[in-house]
Amino acid sequence: MLTPRPQPWWKTGFAWVFRWFDSEAGRDAQAVNARWGWLNSLPYLAMHAMCLGIIWVGISPIAVIVAVAFFALRMFVVTAFYHRYFSHRSYKLNRFWQFVAGLLGTTCVQRGPLWWAAHHRHHHRYSDEPEDTHSPVQRGFWYSHVGWILDPKNNYTHVERVPDLAKFPELRFLDRFCVLIAVATGAGMYYLGKGLAAAYPELGTSAGQMLIWGFFVSTVFLHHATFTINSLSHVWGKRKYETTDDSRNNWMLAILTFGEGWHNNHHHYQASTRQGWRWYEVDLTFYILKLLSFVGIVKGMKRVPDRVRERTAKVVRAERIRAERAGQLRPEPVAAGDSVTP
Ligand SMILES: [Zn+2]
Ligand SMILES: [Zn+2]
Repeated sequence: MLTPRPQPWWKTGFAWVFRWFDSEAGRDAQAVNARWGWLNSLPYLAMHAMCLGIIWVGISPIAVIVAVAFFALRMFVVTAFYHRYFSHRSYKLNRFWQFVAGLLGTTCVQRGPLWWAAHHRHHHRYSDEPEDTHSPVQRGFWYSHVGWILDPKNNYTHVERVPDLAKFPELRFLDRFCVLIAVATGAGMYYLGKGLAAAYPELGTSAGQMLIWGFFVSTVFLHHATFTINSLSHVWGKRKYETTDDSRNNWMLAILTFGEGWHNNHHHYQASTRQGWRWYEVDLTFYILKLLSFVGIVKGMKRVPDRVRERTAKVVRAERIRAERAGQLRPEPVAAGDSVTP
């Protein structure tokens, strides 16, 4: 294997800055000069700092309504598209709607669809094992919540984990230039505010207000709501099924994340489009996907088989107890020559 040639500091330093806009920039440079990795976190920290802008831009009902609506739209996008479609392929979209799903996904500022799906598939493969990128059991709350995203070693997309997605050039384009789309989304909010202020001055909003509330505040809330599934859903809640990881079902997180809180169900059977399997397990994303299936956008949603759904931890325990009792009544025959102590 060839060892990468050390490069001058300015080249590797600039690579970190370029990669804010092009996720493939400096892929090799990074390997030889990881001390510039902190530059990578700057936009993320800046996004949080921008929320303080509310002190200067003030507040109006319309700004809060837009922030909440944009949060809700993108919460749906993250769970329906990035998670249930791109990561798990639990239903089908045609190529046009697949592109729209990826494009909307990039407005969530959680990097591109390939990056997201590649890391998520890895999580399912090694859930709560030492290799798991964001296990709170292995690495603690903060690393599983946000630290892993800022960790330079998780920067690049592992294309080899998502060959089924990487074969579409339009998805690779979105993945590579996801940051530019995120910036354009912020600019869109700014101009929406500008337009509203000019057309409806009685709303009392402004370009700055819409940028801060509609984009930054909404996006930061969206991020932390999404991240609870990595950090809290493996430690807080009920384990209805005996999975090999520590995943939990938590109704509060399910409401906050539009159905993702039924995480133990999901780890028990990942292929299912629906994650709230009982009528009382509210799964807003599934209801919306069902509506989209009525108009023909979403097709082939996969169901959880009844036998899988019924095999709860309680059932498994009961089976085990029954087997043990049966074993006591009819002990295994002792092989000839074995010494048996009374
Ligand atoms: Zn998943
Ligand atoms: Zn998980």
